[in-house]
Amino acid sequence: MLIVMHPRCSPEAVAAVEARIRSLGFTPHAIAGEGRTAIGVTGNQSAIDPLPFLAMNGVADAVRVTQPFKLVSREMKDTNTVVMVGDVAIGGGTPCIIAGPCSVESREQILAAAHAVKASGAQLLRGGAYKPRTSPYEFQGLREDGLKLLALAREQTGLGIVTEVKDTESLPLVAEYADMLQVGARNMQNFSLLERVGEQRKPVLLKRGPSAMLRELLMAAEYIVSRGNPNVVLCERGIRTFETASRNTLDINAVPILKSLTHLPVLVDPSHGMGIRKHVPAVARAGIAAGADGLIIEVHPDPDRALSDGAQSLTPEQFAALMKQVRGLSEVLRAG
Ligand code: PEP
Ligand code: MN
Repeated sequence: MLIVMHPRCSPEAVAAVEARIRSLGFTPHAIAGEGRTAIGVTGNQSAIDPLPFLAMNGVADAVRVTQPFKLVSREMKDTNTVVMVGDVAIGGGTPCIIAGPCSVESREQILAAAHAVKASGAQLLRGGAYKPRTSPYEFQGLREDGLKLLALAREQTGLGIVTEVKDTESLPLVAEYADMLQVGARNMQNFSLLERVGEQRKPVLLKRGPSAMLRELLMAAEYIVSRGNPNVVLCERGIRTFETASRNTLDINAVPILKSLTHLPVLVDPSHGMGIRKHVPAVARAGIAAGADGLIIEVHPDPDRALSDGAQSLTPEQFAALMKQVRGLSEVLRAG
């Protein structure tokens, strides 16, 4: 349930409502909104009777939230959430572009990638130091050495770092270096990891599982937000279908549907969604056209020699061309 307070109600009235929610064994959550105070209620297994709340001082309305996800739903908060990664805004109206290699491979590679994507206008640098690989014999990432190289790239370019946290054990170390923590597709329902990233303050990029329904993605986001971290960005990265012509099937439908169900920002990952370098720009443009708040794209200085995901990584030149198109596209969309 969402309890909407009168615009000029007293802090005591808000405190009394919160106390009543707690007395019922539920949890109150202050919901930021434009010019109004609202209090979300979680923890109830069945509908709460709104009448006692409506009789309280300062209460304007008590609305049932029908979706199973509560704090992340638009029913609870109708204004778009803007997630800040340092001074970079995700969800603020201008597409945010995160770019860089799939994995951090060497000092030369990550620095070359970082300088190249920065020169083309990317706002954040991606790069995996802990890689979740399908085969245990594939490159697993440089781990802490990779994190140190990312920090060096940040120092040289000023770009904030987005990197994956694979498990709860490595979270404290990864969070020390990262500006934004990526929870990968394979970990979307790793509930202990979701809880832990919800208990710390770094913003989280939550990728959709390859066979997860959008409702499940939103419930995973709810795990993080309900633990106290409201800074969650969702990412559509392609799902598994019967189609084998591309690595995954990028679910463009997810973008407008998620934007209507949640106030959280939504990014598109055309690299994993498509898996084929020459077709990545087309679906990247489609993501922006569908209303995504930005893109996360794999770019490698020498993709054919990449230790992971080379086939889908753009060259710096291809990325520069795509950035021009994205800028042009955003202008057209804004004008419309
Ligand atoms: C990645 O971003 O390199 C990655 C492993 O992505 P996903 O979790 O979407 O497969
Ligand atoms: Mn990858």
